Amino acid sequence: MNFVDLAAQQERIRDKIDRNIANVLDHGKYIMGPEVSELETKLSQFLTVQHAVACASGTDALLMSLMAYGVGPGDAIFTTPFTFVATADVISLLGATPVFVDVDDRTFNIDPDRLNDAIQALNTKNASIHPLPKVDGNLPLNPKGIIVVDLFGLPADYDAIGSIAKAQDLFLIGDAAQSLGSEYKGRKAAAIPDIACTSFFPAKPLGCYGDGGMCFTNDAVLAEKLKSIRLHGKGNEKYDNVRTGINGRLDTLQAAILLAKADLFPEEITLRRHIADNYSRHLAGQSMVIPHIPERYKSVWAQYSLLAETEQDREAYIQRLNAANIPTAIYYPKPLHLQTAFKHLDYREGDFNISESISKRIFSLPMHPYLEEEDQSNVIQSLKNQF
Ligand SMILES: *Cc1c(COP(=O)(O)O)cnc(C)c1O
Repeated sequence: MNFVDLAAQQERIRDKIDRNIANVLDHGKYIMGPEVSELETKLSQFLTVQHAVACASGTDALLMSLMAYGVGPGDAIFTTPFTFVATADVISLLGATPVFVDVDDRTFNIDPDRLNDAIQALNTKNASIHPLPKVDGNLPLNPKGIIVVDLFGLPADYDAIGSIAKAQDLFLIGDAAQSLGSEYKGRKAAAIPDIACTSFFPAKPLGCYGDGGMCFTNDAVLAEKLKSIRLHGKGNEKYDNVRTGINGRLDTLQAAILLAKADLFPEEITLRRHIADNYSRHLAGQSMVIPHIPERYKSVWAQYSLLAETEQDREAYIQRLNAANIPTAIYYPKPLHLQTAFKHLDYREGDFNISESISKRIFSLPMHPYLEEEDQSNVIQSLKNQF
């Protein structure tokens, strides 16, 4: 059994992938070839977003978005400590400061009430309201924006967080690396924040055969800035540079591969939902917490993650599954505020209890659209036989 099965998917569309790759080799436009804008159009239509800007990775999508807002030293960006490191890395990379905000214990996404506390703590320089990062000297920290993460494919609480962003004049970026195609109260989640950033890393719900990413926005000015930043800060002419940018382009070959895969994507989301429903139906009532999907949210199930009661229970579940040749994964074993990379922020163990507790108890089951029913049953049986 595979945790993720890219071969099963490839088998279905291998001809189309080969054809699309051959087309690129024939036309030879390896950089920003026609497939790139074709993919941007296709995905923006699917997500009902006006503008899409393809780029080299999910990390670059986040980086370019922060750059489009001119983020730099002295800026505070609120985000979750329970995510992949890239979400906060890009903040540090620009010299800005991540201000971590703990997650909701049921959705694992950033908690709007705590976000309010964190903003208030920062504005009043009062860390007794909410843990704050250490900053060098007397540098004042200015609240500038929020990056929420739609963890495991489940959208963040966009209504609550969107109104906080509006009230506090903060930009809202959605890290949609795991959640492309997810829905929030009848809308595609990627259409809601100021910019949504996704990743086409192979194991993501929509993955290419290398690295890739995309930004989505309904703001035409932001879209132009993102396109400029993607190309070294290009102005109207090739050698006219109007801002600092990066080489953040998506390869034409990856776009060609994604075009073949994009046709399957809606169906694959449905298949993932069936598997998640099946897992949840059979695991409900066991001594573990099954994923909580709030009303009118639709996950794309990048991961199906369970919470064991204790760290020891998790170890026992994993051993049991692995003994039955069922692969598992832990996302994420260490929250970001305890990572060496963010040591300079001087956060302490205990600052974000929920993330810390989840990181000790969470584990993920095999999840991909082509997981056979028999495999699903084996996973379920192995977990049920636990104690
Ligand atoms: C994968 C991922 C990223 C980074 O995407 P890359 O394409 O690997 O750079 C960022 N945030 C989250 C939540 C991710 O899962």
